[in-house]
Amino acid sequence: MVKKKIGFIGLGAMGNYMARNLIKAGYDLTVHDLNSQPVKEIVALGAKEAKSSAEAAKVVEVIITMLPADEEVKSAILGPGGVLEGAQAGTVLIDMSSIAPHTSIFVAGEAKKKGVKFLDAPVSGGTIGAEKATLTIMVGGDKTLLDEHTEILQAMGKTIYHVGDVGMGETVKMVNQLMLGINLTGIVEGLVLGTKLGVAPDILYKVIRASSGNSFLMEHRVPNYIFTGNFTQPGFALDLLRKDLGLALESAKVNKIPLFMTGLAYQYYTRATAEGLGKKDMSAVIELLEKSVGVEVRGKAE
Ligand code: NAD
Repeated sequence: MVKKKIGFIGLGAMGNYMARNLIKAGYDLTVHDLNSQPVKEIVALGAKEAKSSAEAAKVVEVIITMLPADEEVKSAILGPGGVLEGAQAGTVLIDMSSIAPHTSIFVAGEAKKKGVKFLDAPVSGGTIGAEKATLTIMVGGDKTLLDEHTEILQAMGKTIYHVGDVGMGETVKMVNQLMLGINLTGIVEGLVLGTKLGVAPDILYKVIRASSGNSFLMEHRVPNYIFTGNFTQPGFALDLLRKDLGLALESAKVNKIPLFMTGLAYQYYTRATAEGLGKKDMSAVIELLEKSVGVEVRGKAE
């Protein structure tokens, strides 16, 4: 069967790898990003360049967006020069960004007016998962539509779940981010406390990894970012995690649900942003505590 033509908007930390994997899987790709550098990189691998999201949408059957937050998604899809300006009726729009569920529902409604079908399909697994095409993808929208496009998602991810109607993919992602954000503050506080009390960070890592305090973040963020002190390598921007916790709090406010720990974690990341750490990987939140107690958690993972 002939593979569908795909447009890809947003070639950042995640989208860059995801677009590469689609090319590797043999898809005819047309790409767009406000930043010309990643566009050049992906075009060098065989993709075509579009000067706007509308231009990309005009020439493809499926268009994927991987953008930072609600505002960028609305602008790239609904704004002037956006996806809906160029898309033909029957085009399928798959938004893989992490945004508010109500924004997905709104965008899907606008898309429907033009005959464009919509799936929300946010991902988890970080830049490593994007690079290795092992992302977990949580999809909201029509199940048959998903079935027809699963092969495309499989070029970028390993585990694909249909979780409900439009907006439900984003809802599940929001829950994941809430847990991740709180987990990271726990790791950071524990490591700083242990190190300040005189335990070598290497020992803390080795023992906790084999104990009940272990987690996915312990295994990935501690050796690669915290122990090396290299928070500027490609990762998940602290500002984006703060955005995700903000989405959970906004949703909790509307639905009158108390989220105590999420509120505290949100303040942690907001303080970190105020201290200029927002563009660094989320694990740079440890720098706040390190500075305040005069200790650095650096080490080597065995
Ligand atoms: P990023 O900021 O690195 O990349 C976003 C890209 O979108 C940039 O290249 C930017 O130039 C481009 N862009 C912004 N507005 C645009 C517009 N209007 N038109 C065209 N291009 C535009 O972000 P990222 O880390 O790749 O994350 C993308 C999304 O995936 C976010 O919602 C994030 O929360 C989510 N996410 C990120 C990770 C991660 O580890 N980085 C993991 C899972 C999910």
